[in-house]
Amino acid sequence: MSLATINPATGELLKSFEPLNDTEISSRLDLAQQAFEEYQQTSFAERSHILNQAADILEREKSEFAKIMTLEMGKTHKSAVAEVEKCALVCRYYAEHAPQFLADVPISTDASNSFVKYQPLGLILAVMPWNFPFWQVFRFAAPALMAGNAGILKHASNVPQCALAIEEIFLKAGLPKGVFQTFLVGAAKVADLIADDRIKAATLTGSEPAGMSLAANAGKQIKKVVLELGGSDPFIVLASADIEAAATTAATARMLNNGQSCIAAKRFIIEDSVADKFEKLLLEKFQALKIGDPMLPETDIGPLATPGILKELDAQVQTAVNSGGKILLGGNITDLQTQLTPSLRQGNFYPPTIITDISPEEPIAREEFFGPVAMLFRVPDINAAITIANSTPFGLGASAWTTDKNEQQRLIHEIEAGAVFINGMVKSDPRLPFGGIKRSGFGRELSIQGIHEFVNVKTVWVK
Ligand code: NAP
Repeated sequence: MSLATINPATGELLKSFEPLNDTEISSRLDLAQQAFEEYQQTSFAERSHILNQAADILEREKSEFAKIMTLEMGKTHKSAVAEVEKCALVCRYYAEHAPQFLADVPISTDASNSFVKYQPLGLILAVMPWNFPFWQVFRFAAPALMAGNAGILKHASNVPQCALAIEEIFLKAGLPKGVFQTFLVGAAKVADLIADDRIKAATLTGSEPAGMSLAANAGKQIKKVVLELGGSDPFIVLASADIEAAATTAATARMLNNGQSCIAAKRFIIEDSVADKFEKLLLEKFQALKIGDPMLPETDIGPLATPGILKELDAQVQTAVNSGGKILLGGNITDLQTQLTPSLRQGNFYPPTIITDISPEEPIAREEFFGPVAMLFRVPDINAAITIANSTPFGLGASAWTTDKNEQQRLIHEIEAGAVFINGMVKSDPRLPFGGIKRSGFGRELSIQGIHEFVNVKTVWVK
């Protein structure tokens, strides 16, 4: 994949970039190593000051940064502004809490003094996806930098201007040169980077194949990795739930980021007695969504990020239909194109789509749909709901709706996922750990757990 900004709303190539060559990569790693050696000596107060400065820049220039995101990957400008604000929040969160999260922890033993000390590991490689091009990077960088590490960002090839803007933000915030660098390189360079002695660990947010490849290469070098991979999150609605609230949240949760979020609700599992009502409400909410130019404030759904994603999503919908699924809404790109203005007809637009009647046993029913497509399943009771919810290789998040306390306890206990949200939408929050189980990956970001991923947990024992 070439490094380029291609507007997903129009298909227009706006800017191309040359990847770094091997000599440039090596000299930048040297720079990072030297910068790390000094930076790890800085105090928490100095690091907090830098992160608060970064938060100020993000807040001040949020509209401009949001515009870069919208131009490169198609999310609506209003949602991109909210993303920049969230990046400022995570910087401030770790600026405030990291000193406490990383303070020595005294432990009484037979020693006169024994404690746990947290120290940075060094250069951490971050391989990041395009779907939240600022947020994914900041939620890695804020804790990693507060812990005294240096960051090397290999961003997705379709968001090079976002990647460069983030490096610039940290420089302007006062981070010493070299401590956080963007490497404009393709995926093929990741294996060499992880094999380099100067890089000590890596984190990857992205697809399963990318995660498998990074983990295998890191394994050969005995280097730690954190993996945040795909998800096919269930959204369960049981009979006692507030159906109107559930349907409203369902539409928001499915359409987040034009449907391209790892924690978007993707499989809607509804108890029979309320299924007709829920289906009707969801249909109305999907029909009301406005598709179009993502820069316009009235637009709800913009284009998908690349033509490849559009093609794959369309193929999945066809497979679902061929496997017995019925299209309640959408599913037809040609129809949608006639409704778009001529300038948007080369864009990667997909209509909001609802598929019903598909058997949960079908392989396609367990896949991740990365776009505005909802699959609805009807179940007789909570037992069947939990079985379907767990019948996917993924285990990222789950949203479940019921007012029955016993059912809530069962859902919390029995759903196989890194997060369960009751009567609410799955979302990331700097205060709560984020990550998955099963093929959604391992390790955690955010909260205290996130900052402890890339540190040496050193045991100290003094007689
Ligand atoms: P992707 O193709 O895996 O790309 C993600 C990053 O990995 C990009 O920087 C990409 O570089 C790189 N990459 C691709 N193949 C690689 C390989 N073999 N070795 C090393 N690096 C490689 O993922 P995507 O399609 O852009 O993103 C969508 C996926 O990310 C979905 O499955 C989604 O659920 C998941 N996701 C998960 C989370 C989470 O927190 N769990 C959050 C967001 C997204 P190039 O761009 O240069 O190919």
